[in-house]
Amino acid sequence: MTEKNIQLTIDGTPISVPPETTILDAARDLDIDIPTMCYSAHTTANGVCRLCVVEVEGARMLQAACVVQPQDGAVIHTRTPQVEQARRVILELLASTVDFSEAPELQGLVVEYDCHPERFEGTKKRQPAIIDDNPVFIRDYSQCVMCWRCVQVCADDAQFSYALNFSGRGFDTLIATFFDKPLTETTCVFCGNCVAACPTGALKSKREHLLEHGIAPEQVIEFTRMKGKRKRSKT
Ligand code: SF4
Ligand code: SF4
Repeated sequence: MTEKNIQLTIDGTPISVPPETTILDAARDLDIDIPTMCYSAHTTANGVCRLCVVEVEGARMLQAACVVQPQDGAVIHTRTPQVEQARRVILELLASTVDFSEAPELQGLVVEYDCHPERFEGTKKRQPAIIDDNPVFIRDYSQCVMCWRCVQVCADDAQFSYALNFSGRGFDTLIATFFDKPLTETTCVFCGNCVAACPTGALKSKREHLLEHGIAPEQVIEFTRMKGKRKRSKT
């Protein structure tokens, strides 16, 4: 027996959805835009980035739309001043430390939410060395927003390889391999799922990286065979 639909109101518009529908999915059914960053339709939603927070009447705190399944009768507001302020601060903190140059969606949100990352005096951009340790893809964690998607697809959401995890703490937290080993010495099978899942330029095919930096197409194969090193330079 199928369960009865529940009734919600989102930004003043009523909608009837199956129970266990998330706020994000219900809003998208109404063509209401809620920004996301860590969320992907291909990974398990986990509410890590909190960019999708919304106001649910009666709830003490803002709710992450990608994971919260509202109750029957819920009244939800997706763009209140409190919601906008929460999203603005998240974006400002990220933009003050992470290189958004290859993340046009995030650049657009910075403008849309009138962000001023420069107001966080004393912050500095993260500039870990580009990791070029295999023939298939490079890792530039200066562009990493810690969305966790690469770790998820490498693990139970797709590949079951478990080659990636977090390392470090606080400002120095990065995605890394276990014991920070080169990918060629891990359980990585070079499926490329993590590269496809990355929403920024942090993970990029080595071929694309080389072409972008002026290597002639006929030389790309030769360069990808070269044993990579950890380096900051852009080739
Ligand atoms: S390429 Fe390697 S690290 Fe990336 S998802 Fe596949 S197995 Fe994991
Ligand atoms: S490397 Fe890409 S996919 Fe992985 S956490 Fe960083 S931004 Fe997300």
